[in-house]
Amino acid sequence: MKITAIRTFLMQAGPPALLAGKNAGRSWQASGRNWLFVRIETDGGLFGIGECSGWPRVVERAVEDLAHVLVGEDATHIELHWQRMYTAMMGHGMTGVVGAGAMAGIDMALWDLKGKALGVPVWNLLGGRMRPRVPIYGHAADPEDARGLVARGIGAVKLGGARDIVRRVAAMREAVGPEIDIMVDLAGPPWLTATDAIAIGRALEPYDLLFMEDPVPPEQIDQYARIRDAVNIPLAAGERMATIWGLRPLIERELVDVIQPDTGRAGGITQMKKMAAMAEAHGIMLAPHSGSLGPAAEFAALHLMAAIPNALMLERVVQDWPERNAVITAAPIEQDGALLVPDGPGLGVDIVESEIARYPSRRNIGMANAGPEQGYVRMRLARARSLRLAEAAE
Ligand SMILES: [Mg+2]
Repeated sequence: MKITAIRTFLMQAGPPALLAGKNAGRSWQASGRNWLFVRIETDGGLFGIGECSGWPRVVERAVEDLAHVLVGEDATHIELHWQRMYTAMMGHGMTGVVGAGAMAGIDMALWDLKGKALGVPVWNLLGGRMRPRVPIYGHAADPEDARGLVARGIGAVKLGGARDIVRRVAAMREAVGPEIDIMVDLAGPPWLTATDAIAIGRALEPYDLLFMEDPVPPEQIDQYARIRDAVNIPLAAGERMATIWGLRPLIERELVDVIQPDTGRAGGITQMKKMAAMAEAHGIMLAPHSGSLGPAAEFAALHLMAAIPNALMLERVVQDWPERNAVITAAPIEQDGALLVPDGPGLGVDIVESEIARYPSRRNIGMANAGPEQGYVRMRLARARSLRLAEAAE
């Protein structure tokens, strides 16, 4: 089964409904989100599908470059291809989530291809199925969102952002009661200091959080250690990291309770299976990131989560852009707060080229209000006011 071509399909994806609601009138053209799909074709006619979510417009070029490493090779030697791709990028510095994003999509397509060739689902190749369903969690901006998620059977909800977070969590806990898991994603902006994150964490301790995510940026590994020592809430991180070497400090130093590699940019299924094993040895769970992830990579995450022991749950943009399911041939089935693990050969999904072509990529940077003037250079008092910690404590 020789690889004959690697093709890419880049598209502009619209904003999730949660965001679109706050930005009425935002169309898919104005969204900063792109999805990049990869198709690996072989001489026998079989093909595999993958998806990259590192920085899709940039990653597309990386996939095109890496194709030279794979075309003409036997598609079945997945580990060998991963190592060859990684080595091929030595001269470029191995390139973090961009390089790993390109490898992730290619790697995913190789697993899909192998499963199809053998007539088995990818989870079977990963050691077999430990569970038929993978629990999901959704995002809630306010108690009303949270009640909607709970009403559809979802048992865990996540709030984002640091501003006024203690008050918002208190209102959320009040709305959903004691039986629903609540998580907080501080999203690790460069302006949020470890001192602030510790103050927030301590104020959040009474609310029984499942975890507090990205309290500081991933670059500040030593600050994670400070926060870990000072705050009695489980921590989660890893969505902006790639490869086993990128996540190693979080795992080996036991700085978090949950790692959150992104299936489309952490280096692929091959890497995430190893990360899961590393985490297992340290009593750490996996909850893969899915914020920018498109609909094909979600299938890959489901296969992985079906096969590993330390699968906590999968992040899901429950109310996503309505066209999400139009660009793939089958959406995952949600049932009682979980996604059913697909059991078709390979990943069990294909892309719909004609639909993807309807949404040409235009832009891939969509973070409004991300400039340093939003907080990085603020004095402590102004920052504390925006966090509203003093008020929350009253
Ligand atoms: Mg996050």
